[in-house]
Amino acid sequence: QFKIRKMHNSEKGVAHGLRALFVNELKDIYWAEQALVKAIPKMIKHASAVELIDTLTKHLEVTKEHITRLEAVFSSVGEKPEGKKCEAIAGLIAEAEEIMEKTESGMVRDAGIILAAQKVEHYEIATYGTLRTFARTLGELKATALLQETLDEEKEADVKLTVIAESFVNEEAVTGG
Ligand code: ZN
Ligand code: FE
Ligand code: FE
Repeated sequence: QFKIRKMHNSEKGVAHGLRALFVNELKDIYWAEQALVKAIPKMIKHASAVELIDTLTKHLEVTKEHITRLEAVFSSVGEKPEGKKCEAIAGLIAEAEEIMEKTESGMVRDAGIILAAQKVEHYEIATYGTLRTFARTLGELKATALLQETLDEEKEADVKLTVIAESFVNEEAVTGG
């Protein structure tokens, strides 16, 4: 964990730089979460397994809460909520759409949807983990706590997706497919 100490004048520029990076990355994930609220319903529509549909449906609701929580993060650091296109999430969503188009409906498409969804979760886990640490470094305690909450929920979604993916592998073994 980084420790905050009194800064010398020569170091203030560094803190300013980190703060700018923090706010910029907040805008990136704010855009990403909004894009995901539009993308997840398509994944739900294309999924077959009840467990997967259920997990994605719940995560859609959680994702909407992430947007609200990010708005609280912006205001806690005295910034206006604003989105900035996240090229990474835009790319992952485009890949998810391609996977859904090119696979046959059923277990294989479900496996592809899980793959795409887990790529998204891992991106979010990396982003929220870093943002949480930046917030802590900047002494933004409220933002730190809010970002930690979202980080935990993204990790939870990732674990659930892994459990579903593993149940497919088991089923495959049982049916000999
Ligand atoms: Zn999220
Ligand atoms: Fe991004
Ligand atoms: Fe997520």
